[in-house]
Amino acid sequence: MLAEELRPIEQLLSAIESSNKKYDLEKIKKAFLYADEMHKGQMRQSGEPYISHPIAVAESVVSLGLDTDSVCAALLHDTVEDCPEKTNLDAIRQLFGNDVALFVDGVTKIKSINVEDKEETHIENIRKMLLAMSKDIRVIFIKLCDRMHNMRTLYVKKDAKRRVTALETMHVYAPLAHRLGMQRIKQELENTALKYLDPIGYDEVKGNIDDKYGKNANFIENIKNHVSAKLEAANINYKLKGRVKTVYSVYRKMYNQNKSFDEIYDFYALRIIVDTELECYTVLGLIHEMYKSVPGRFKDYISTPKPNMYQSLHTTVIGKDGIPFEVQIRTSEMHHIAEYGIAAHWKYKSGEKASVDIDRKLDWISKLIDTENEASDPDEFLHAFKIDIFHDETFVFTPKGDVIALPLGSTLIDFAYSIHTGVGNKMIGAKINGRIAPIDSEPKNGDIVEVITSNSAKGPSRDWLNIVKTSEARNKIKQWFKKEKRQENIQVGRNEIEKMFNRKRMNCSDTEREEIVTAVAKKLGMADANDLYNGLGYGGLSYTKIEAKLTDEYDRNYKKEPVKESVIEPTTNAAVKRRKSNGGVIVDGEEGCAVKFAKCCNPLPGEEIIGFITKGYGISIHKADCPNISSAYANEENVDRFVKAEWDVPVSGHSSSTFESAIQIFVTNRISILADISVALAEMKVDIVSINTKNVEGASIINMVISCKNIEHFNSIISRVRNIKDVIRVSRVVGASV
Ligand code: MN
Repeated sequence: MLAEELRPIEQLLSAIESSNKKYDLEKIKKAFLYADEMHKGQMRQSGEPYISHPIAVAESVVSLGLDTDSVCAALLHDTVEDCPEKTNLDAIRQLFGNDVALFVDGVTKIKSINVEDKEETHIENIRKMLLAMSKDIRVIFIKLCDRMHNMRTLYVKKDAKRRVTALETMHVYAPLAHRLGMQRIKQELENTALKYLDPIGYDEVKGNIDDKYGKNANFIENIKNHVSAKLEAANINYKLKGRVKTVYSVYRKMYNQNKSFDEIYDFYALRIIVDTELECYTVLGLIHEMYKSVPGRFKDYISTPKPNMYQSLHTTVIGKDGIPFEVQIRTSEMHHIAEYGIAAHWKYKSGEKASVDIDRKLDWISKLIDTENEASDPDEFLHAFKIDIFHDETFVFTPKGDVIALPLGSTLIDFAYSIHTGVGNKMIGAKINGRIAPIDSEPKNGDIVEVITSNSAKGPSRDWLNIVKTSEARNKIKQWFKKEKRQENIQVGRNEIEKMFNRKRMNCSDTEREEIVTAVAKKLGMADANDLYNGLGYGGLSYTKIEAKLTDEYDRNYKKEPVKESVIEPTTNAAVKRRKSNGGVIVDGEEGCAVKFAKCCNPLPGEEIIGFITKGYGISIHKADCPNISSAYANEENVDRFVKAEWDVPVSGHSSSTFESAIQIFVTNRISILADISVALAEMKVDIVSINTKNVEGASIINMVISCKNIEHFNSIISRVRNIKDVIRVSRVVGASV
């Protein structure tokens, strides 16, 4: 390779040389030559060749101590987006491997986002989305280096562009750097952003700072000399820095706390860097011997580090002229971490100080980042830094670039309703990243979602209630049915009530039934029976609550003489009759009869049952409230065929007998969902007697017959299955004709 070709990266190469980390120089040179070729002919607005930008970004990446792949990705980070006619991700992947491609893709996807006029919660979503989208923390590091260089060269851009970029830097990137403990980058981003957002304020504060330092030039120098002498006498190895406040930190104090420049208390500061933690406390003692301390200003961030890993001792003392100043005392390792945050870890890990107690330091990161695969090799260690912070949220864009946070698993319908109720109600379709997608699809982080609406849309469908994930969407859909579908709701509600009357064997005419419902509706403060039917129809009224009230009303005012009651109830001398247990059931008054369990309702121990004498098949045992029983009961001829039945097996707890029960499980389509369900059932030692599945749009219905011990056992099975991921609904199948 000719030296001439590599001239523009000499600086990068020398930065690599002076870092004591091992880099794959051949790979880095290859990445440079490739990027140089791609960007050939492109100029930055400053007039420099474009390649100067990726090189500068790569240099920052080296200074963070990142690995070869990160440096290569930094060099290549703009090629895919800026030179689509020449290259693409696949080409990058083939030439430089998966990781480099992943990083380039990550940096490319984090396109500039408009944060102007956005509310704070919205901006927080943007920050979260950046982290969530990045998948690997190195993507964020490269992006921060990219942003740092863009800010350094922002002066060449037009005014409007400057403002947007500076706002985004201040609201998104600086706080991200802060969260990751990367103080040095954070401060640079804040200061450069401030310069563009409030140039006058910036100049004023900077002028004041320079002025004050100018006037009191001797003040901090004197203190430094004084402290140096003391530390030398105590035989302590130290580094001193006298001027540590940034323009932005002073500016923020003045504006947030509404203080004048002269009121900034800890304007002067001295930073003392020593070798050991013990020396930190020794130096603190020395400082307090030399100067009077200001009460309440001592902070021990060594024993209690800040959430972003920052460690240091802080104290404020009064100097000779009565001027207060802050003293920060820390070890060089703490200092390094204060400046580089998370990135400091692998720098140490790969450098000489491999003995650093990483585990302890990683404590806070482990909450932030998945560090399960802890490894001793620094590069493997890097790989463990996969971002999985916001695993319960998905962040998607609107076509206008707003970021919407949705609970994980939300569908496009949820998205539509989260935009606006009207958008949801008029939704007829949706696009993900410009392509039509089924409305029950789940968008992924960073997807651009567009809802297609139509004014002639018929409104939401009842199925949507089973598809949506958020209660917000569900409520809005119910609301719609309440308003728009009154006639339909009334019909649905009336049918339900009719069925209930039959099932409960509440014998009355249609008119009487209407009277009962009206009476209950009035008691509930409604105008008439239709209001009640409507409430049941759209799901706003609890069915069980109504059922009890209707039964009550019926029992008190409409109940007829229980002609058939005597037949069902055991005769008083039933106890004298022989009781015979048949397959877990005792049937009074009938001897030696074979019983079978009705397939329509599959009664379980613990549930009320009743026997029905069949023609030729012995006694079939039904649930007392089985719909088939109510209809059989309606026929006068059947009156004598009912017999009392009760369980003769444990109705709760352990039991050796098992009974069949039919359930229906509604699930979203996922390859291994059936396996998950079978495993759960196997773990509970539940046999699957039969199973069949049916696909409906975007979901599946699984019909199963399982064997269980009793209703208590059955309920525990149901709740376990209900908790399996992607299971939408589990219900017991009752009353189906067989
Ligand atoms: Mn760039």
